Amino acid sequence: SDTAMYAVKQKGRDGWAFFNESQQEQARQRLAITNGLRLAIEREEFSLRYQPIVATETGRVVGAEVLLRWRPPQGEISPALFIPVAESTGAIVAIGTWVFRSACQTVVEWRSRWGQHAPYISVNLSTRQLGEVDLVDEFAAILAETGADPEGVLLEITETSLMADVEGNLRVLRRLSELGLRVAVDDFGTGYSSLAQLTRLPVSVLKIDRAFVDGIEKSSEARTVIRAVIGLGRSLGLKLVAEGVETSAQRLELCAYGCDFAQGYFFYRPLEGPRFIETYAEQLDDKHAHTTSTLHTLLYVCKARQAMTAQELETLREQAASSNRAAGISGCLLYRDGCFMQLLEGQRDRVRALYDQIRRDSRITDCQLVLESHIEARTFHDWGMAMPSMPNTLTEVSTTHKRHITFLDVAEDARFCYEFIAAHARGIES
Ligand code: C2E
Ligand code: CA
Ligand code: CA
Repeated sequence: SDTAMYAVKQKGRDGWAFFNESQQEQARQRLAITNGLRLAIEREEFSLRYQPIVATETGRVVGAEVLLRWRPPQGEISPALFIPVAESTGAIVAIGTWVFRSACQTVVEWRSRWGQHAPYISVNLSTRQLGEVDLVDEFAAILAETGADPEGVLLEITETSLMADVEGNLRVLRRLSELGLRVAVDDFGTGYSSLAQLTRLPVSVLKIDRAFVDGIEKSSEARTVIRAVIGLGRSLGLKLVAEGVETSAQRLELCAYGCDFAQGYFFYRPLEGPRFIETYAEQLDDKHAHTTSTLHTLLYVCKARQAMTAQELETLREQAASSNRAAGISGCLLYRDGCFMQLLEGQRDRVRALYDQIRRDSRITDCQLVLESHIEARTFHDWGMAMPSMPNTLTEVSTTHKRHITFLDVAEDARFCYEFIAAHARGIES
């Protein structure tokens, strides 16, 4: 009857259910897990995997999320199955302490290997742990005992747990951050954060839930939502990590939106410790990786061979937007008075290849490169090949004369040209 009641509660309470065989099977599984977990630490059945967290743009590994694995004698059981059971029985408290201690040992090991270049470690913390009165003292003791630098550790707490008890969590998180530990909001977007509450909590990272990343290629609504979330995070001064990135298209889109970090099968699956070390060491050796993935910007102006109709312009815009999206190039394209001005941002080789292709396009002539340079981050978080309706004339007013100027004139001053297109792009984005 307890099992049947549990089934009703899972469906949202206030209902009824008969006890049936599939429930019996589930109950048996829960019981087996509950019993198995009791001795799992003692029997050394737990191990950790490290899933790399990378800089979205370059793919460079910057950190790792620690993921727990349980292998009892009858075979590995997924954390998606055993973590919820461990949470409901309270076993997660002891398990969480084991994970935190092991993670701290890894921090120390990586520091001795790589010094200040060591990647950070992200550790999942469950609601049950947050509710423990001695959590902070225990973590402080583990940090002292292992000698781990707390700055190298990020604690991941789901949005749902954070928001369940903001006042209580606020006290705990303050004390954790006094220890030097940083906090990330995990599965962001699945809970219902009050933004006012979010800004009160000492968090420094938002991990955008997989569901949003998954929607990037599927719907424009999902793209709008994820862009808004990234914009929100950035304006709150938080670092953003997109979870569950599985395809190149998702990665490129995230780059263009300005999401700095990512994690997912597209980059790496969770790795065993030694494999992670190998991967990271290779990256440190591979200086080439840096130069090929440099972020680059290029701005040019040109004339249309013939005046273009609105229809022709629209076709051109669509072509540009879709081919740039595929190449991970963001930017802005303007047209007026028979002239184009376009700014491109993306990986250097791709931007240059695109510019070469544009110069050979028979629809345009007098192509003039205005500026080209390495950049640290994108300014145009869109494929943005928009053609905003522009004022008909760009007029220079001076005391002595007044004359009509074209993009080609503007291009004479690279800095002014850049500011001009940036101002238009801001207009489009807002
Ligand atoms: P999570 O914190 O959201 O962890 C990310 C999960 O997504 C991991 O599953 C990871 O393997 C998976 N994942 C990563 N990249 C991709 C991807 O590109 N596509 C897809 N489909 N999945 C991806 P995992 O390891 O099975 O862990 C499941 C959940 O179990 C975790 O979700 C976390 O809530 C919990 N968990 C794992 N380890 C611990 C732990 O040490 N303590 C606590 N409290 N919870 C843990
Ligand atoms: Ca997590
Ligand atoms: Ca997550």
